[in-house]
Amino acid sequence: MASVAERRPPPPRALEDLNEALAETLGRTRIVRRGPSFAWDWKTGGDALDRLLWPVIRSAAEVLTSSDVAAVRACAGYACGRLFLDGSRNGSRRWCDMAVCGNRAKVRRHYARSRSRRARSAGGKS
Ligand SMILES: [Zn+2]
Repeated sequence: MASVAERRPPPPRALEDLNEALAETLGRTRIVRRGPSFAWDWKTGGDALDRLLWPVIRSAAEVLTSSDVAAVRACAGYACGRLFLDGSRNGSRRWCDMAVCGNRAKVRRHYARSRSRRARSAGGKS
């Protein structure tokens, strides 16, 4: 998915890996009755430690095959790399979460400016 955010073709093995995981994951889906309607659910049982990945794999496949794929972005936050769907009107969202990565970027910029001012004023006195 990172390659999708960068608008380049995925490595060949990545798509094969996704398809293998998808085949296993979709084999675990089922339809259940929820009140008056039906819903997707998962066949569980045993100690399927990878069950946390099933919704992620299914969601990745759904995004890749939808028009949302054009909105996949990689977070510009320092050492983050999370992927997100950019729902902004002009497609300019940069961070996965403004309250986390956006604020960290602001703090880093502020610190860099302060440090630069201090260095300039210290250099002017000598
Ligand atoms: Zn982030």
